[in-house]
Amino acid sequence: MNEVLEIRNLTVHYGLGTRGVRAVRDVSLTLHRGEVLGLAGESGSGKSTLAYGVTRLLPPPGVITGGQVIYHPQNGEPFDVLKLTDRQLRAFRWARTAIVFQGAMNSLNPVHTVAAQLTDALTAHEPVLTRSQKAARVREVLDLVGISAERLGSYPHQLSGGMRQRVMIAMALVLRPEVVIMDEPTTALDVVMQRQILSQLVVLREQMGFSVVFITHDLSLLVEFSDRIAIMYGGRIVEQGPARDLYTDPLHPYSAGLLGSFPPLRGPRRELTGIPGSPPDLSAMPTGCSFHPRCPQAFDKCRSRLPVLGPPALATEEREVACWLHPGEQQGERQVLSMPR
Ligand code: ATP
Ligand code: SF4
Repeated sequence: MNEVLEIRNLTVHYGLGTRGVRAVRDVSLTLHRGEVLGLAGESGSGKSTLAYGVTRLLPPPGVITGGQVIYHPQNGEPFDVLKLTDRQLRAFRWARTAIVFQGAMNSLNPVHTVAAQLTDALTAHEPVLTRSQKAARVREVLDLVGISAERLGSYPHQLSGGMRQRVMIAMALVLRPEVVIMDEPTTALDVVMQRQILSQLVVLREQMGFSVVFITHDLSLLVEFSDRIAIMYGGRIVEQGPARDLYTDPLHPYSAGLLGSFPPLRGPRRELTGIPGSPPDLSAMPTGCSFHPRCPQAFDKCRSRLPVLGPPALATEEREVACWLHPGEQQGERQVLSMPR
């Protein structure tokens, strides 16, 4: 599978100088064409900051302080999204990537019909389309997300939460993007509805060929719907690999803890255990492995040395982990004795 988006050593701060905090720390991650990549981690682990950083939609005082985001278009030369001018960036966002934010379903314009909002997006970004072409595209995309043509004239308040969320997904897809980023798009919905929308998204991905980054704190949802999963803790990716491997054999104790925090949506019931303690304070990170104060398997080395993400010695090359229980042959190490910001 070839790559569509390559995040290299991305670092993001909120604020600079002594009061700044590093919310994303040296993250490298690749999204392949046509895949669903799940990004999981507790609240505050940096998932949204990573997504906003990649698309350069960070709200102030967020600032990208290092790294590259290489986009590989289907036709054309790769380029660094972080180097685009404002004008190039606007074109890139709409034509190639789409984001569905947390609570997006409440951001529909209450005084415009569903059809009008989708048509406006097309008018603004694909002005060459004729009126009938736009109408056809709007009907097609609503049909894809399971909303019938008779709803075209509805206003947002006339739709259920699930339907509004589907309209937001239709908004994201109407310009036929290559990458769709979904940041907890279904948390306001019940579990059955979340599942329905996610399974539909996977079907759409097959029909339309886009790639998806799906962000959630609920790992059990990802296990079912993603091809690959990356786990974030304290601003870093601590494990990544095929969804099935991560579910059956999590390598990082934090991944195992997250898996034990949610009931599986399918299969046998598991006892829920959760993770003791709370996520780290970004302005006073623990030395060494930042998970060590909460880790049931921590040992001396964990408290002073930072494990770097890399392939573990005995796993397939598709897996990566940052944990001293799984040192890789090529895995480097960095000694962190101070408290990095
Ligand atoms: P959630 O699941 O709650 O959305 P998340 O994993 O997406 O969490 P982020 O929202 O990316 O995490 O936040 C990462 C860290 O950055 C948090 O510790 C948060 O306190 C900090 N942060 C986020 N936004 C700001 C801001 N505007 N100013 C300062 N710090 C911020
Ligand atoms: Fe636990 Fe040590 Fe692995 Fe960190 S490096 S997750 S503290 S065993």
